[in-house]
Amino acid sequence: MTRRLLIAGNWKMHGTSGALAFFADPGINRTYAGIDRLICPPATLLRAATEAASATGVMIGGQDCHAQAGGAHTGDVSAEMLADAGASHVIVGHSERRADHGERDATVKAKAEAALRAGLTPIVCVGESRADREAGREFDVVGEQLAGSWPDGGTGDTVVIAYEPVWAIGTGLTASIGDIDAMHAFIREARGGDQSLRILYGGSVKPANSGDILGRPEVDGALIGGASLTAESFAAICLAA
Ligand code: PGA
Repeated sequence: MTRRLLIAGNWKMHGTSGALAFFADPGINRTYAGIDRLICPPATLLRAATEAASATGVMIGGQDCHAQAGGAHTGDVSAEMLADAGASHVIVGHSERRADHGERDATVKAKAEAALRAGLTPIVCVGESRADREAGREFDVVGEQLAGSWPDGGTGDTVVIAYEPVWAIGTGLTASIGDIDAMHAFIREARGGDQSLRILYGGSVKPANSGDILGRPEVDGALIGGASLTAESFAAICLAA
């Protein structure tokens, strides 16, 4: 089965309205056969990004959502609100959320379920720390995160997994091709060999390494932080895909 590649950019806490010029760039305004493109801007830019991206074919996603549809949760944004602003996807359980906000698997699972209820595709992030890998625990840790964070009712068609080794995020270090292959195969196996499930790799993906990474049969796309901030580098990664 051929899975379409998903090239997803995570802008994190970067970008005010000037960042929307990204969507006017010629590299963004061209067709890319056989790949899906997604940008997850900060929540403040969601609606405007949806409008700016409308003619480009780029989808827009959130970076997090609350597990509930609404209520007394100051500062939070629900999956319904993201959908209403034009989002099609939402990242949940990013390692920065797990670290900065103490999110555990049960919370990530509840958020992914909220995303599904709102009609969004959750991109559920898993990945081991450097200490886990040095201790040889990477498969145990990722297996546990996957089992604990997978939303009830989710399928390979409605959920995306992003494997992001924490030590590779924003560090310039990437996992070796062999390690990526092994972990992606492990994740698919843990999901019963589901051939429809898309498994993205994330962690210092950039134009120089994206061709090799995206060429692997078990890699179904990338979740890109730093290199998604400029249209040039994001387009270069899409071209290499
Ligand atoms: P990076 O971030 O590409 O800057 O390493 C990836 C991510 O955190 O999703």
